[in-house]
Amino acid sequence: MSTLLVKQIHTLVTMDAERREIANGALFIRDNVIEQVGTTSELPQTADEVLDLQGRYVVLPGLVNTHHHFYQTLTRAIPAAQDCDLFNWLQTLYPIWAKLTPRAIYVSAQMAAAELMLSGCTTASDHLYIYPNGSTLDDEIEAVQAIGLRFHASRGSMSVGQSQGGLPPDSVVEREADILNDSQRLIEQYHNNDRHAMLRITLAPCSPFSVSQDLMRESAALARSHPGIRLHTHLAENKSDIEYSLATFGMTPGDYAESVGWVGPDVWHAHCVQLDDRAIRQFGKTGTGIAHCPCSNMRLASGMAPIRTMLHHHVPVGLGVDGSASNDTSNLLNEARTAFLMARVREQDASAMTARGALELATLGGARVLGRDDIGALAPGMSADFVAISLDRPEFAGALHDPVAAMIFCQVNRVDYNFINGRKVVDQGRLTTVELETLVEEHNTLSRQLMEP
Ligand code: ZN
Repeated sequence: MSTLLVKQIHTLVTMDAERREIANGALFIRDNVIEQVGTTSELPQTADEVLDLQGRYVVLPGLVNTHHHFYQTLTRAIPAAQDCDLFNWLQTLYPIWAKLTPRAIYVSAQMAAAELMLSGCTTASDHLYIYPNGSTLDDEIEAVQAIGLRFHASRGSMSVGQSQGGLPPDSVVEREADILNDSQRLIEQYHNNDRHAMLRITLAPCSPFSVSQDLMRESAALARSHPGIRLHTHLAENKSDIEYSLATFGMTPGDYAESVGWVGPDVWHAHCVQLDDRAIRQFGKTGTGIAHCPCSNMRLASGMAPIRTMLHHHVPVGLGVDGSASNDTSNLLNEARTAFLMARVREQDASAMTARGALELATLGGARVLGRDDIGALAPGMSADFVAISLDRPEFAGALHDPVAAMIFCQVNRVDYNFINGRKVVDQGRLTTVELETLVEEHNTLSRQLMEP
């Protein structure tokens, strides 16, 4: 057993039931769990380890990323895909992704996780749906466990290739029986449903245009036969996605999701930019969640998701940076800022989203979407996942009368400290768990190899 005291926090943002923001705050942690939260004078004065923030840092609950494709860090800013919409972008990239290897999956997962952790993320879901050349989800799990990010690994899949009317080339799709067998294996091998779990498994057929309705139904049945296995996919991302759904299934994406059993508090869908009002009400009633990915949606010109309307109808909303080939970054605090700006533009209303509302989506919102009540807030009994951001930065100059709002109104590229499950993974702006320069170098070598003809 070991204890950690973080004291003299300028402002401690708890996201607790009262949304307290504590001046001169402190946290007392035992192993991986928060034991006490309060002012520095109320809490114990010492511990095995003490981090004195000298009244110069804001502490936030660790941010939660609900949608990503880690392997895409290898294929950012590809010239031929720079100016494409979703379907053309995918068709340009599928042949490059077909050259991925187990090592490329491992290294890109660490690269994406590193970028997320440096920008304040403590828990991420990743959606891996392409397994060429012997790659498995295990490659990614091993990489993320080594770097220390709390992880929801999604067993993605594609089973309907071009010859069957799908979008991906036949060379990258799998047999549905193989997908389901591997899903079962991964659940048995890795899924941890305990409180404070560092690793959970999600089942995640890729999208309506790359899997069958049968695989959607079978995946839902398999997930629901195990406690804590959630379901995730892409839905209603842009107009072509809607047209495909109407032409192929004769249904809107919302009706399609319902017809295959993909609504409920154990399901979350990425994007939902073009989800209609009837489906939004249905998602609200059933507790079906959304991963809102504003940077990617703008990058691919997919549109602006109606987040204000979704929140009004009690749809659980979290944020996702989405894959690094369509963002092309993995900065979650920046994603919260973009969500905040986009909501205002979409509604033509400067009060459509507040800075604190954006921080709530990035923390509590994401935790709810991932089905967790042990992360997203700093309170006794919660996991010790938190980040500290120095106020002595040029970006915050002149904004110190409201340092919490400054986290969103101003731009933050890196956090100074990041603790995940009680472990210090970023110390004074540097990752403690991997050698970043070496990682970037190998990553770039692998990226170059993918580009070779
Ligand atoms: Zn995606």
